[in-house]
Amino acid sequence: METQVKAPHALDLSFQFLEAEDTPEVLWEHDDDLCDCTFQRLGFWTNPYLGQTMRVRFCCIWAEIVKDYPQFVEEVSHFYNYNEDKYEDAPREWDAEFDMPRAIWYRQLATKTGKPLDYIRHAYHDAEPPKGKPKPVKKTRGGTSWKLR
Ligand SMILES: [Zn+2]
Repeated sequence: METQVKAPHALDLSFQFLEAEDTPEVLWEHDDDLCDCTFQRLGFWTNPYLGQTMRVRFCCIWAEIVKDYPQFVEEVSHFYNYNEDKYEDAPREWDAEFDMPRAIWYRQLATKTGKPLDYIRHAYHDAEPPKGKPKPVKKTRGGTSWKLR
């Protein structure tokens, strides 16, 4: 009688091809507005050699932790201007070069109006966030100019 011995920790190196149902329908991205957190923070790791991807909604995890440890959280309803070491009275108007992310715009409107985020999403879903304002390109005069050849 022949006995087959299996290695106790034999690795199963078979791999499965990705099926459509194994991949998320919606990609979690920074400022995706898929949660109500004021500051959306995501962790993202992916490695082609491991064939793995992991995304973590740290903001939502923190929100759950904060419920148990509110004494360790300080929420201030003003922007802390760390360059001038003071809090600013009101949210700034959008002045970046790129368009305002919809998630940030919704949260800014909620802050300005005092309305709930869900109300803002519903009321402004057809409207467009503020556009970016490209900064003027500085022209150099005189001096050495470099050209690629
Ligand atoms: Zn969140």
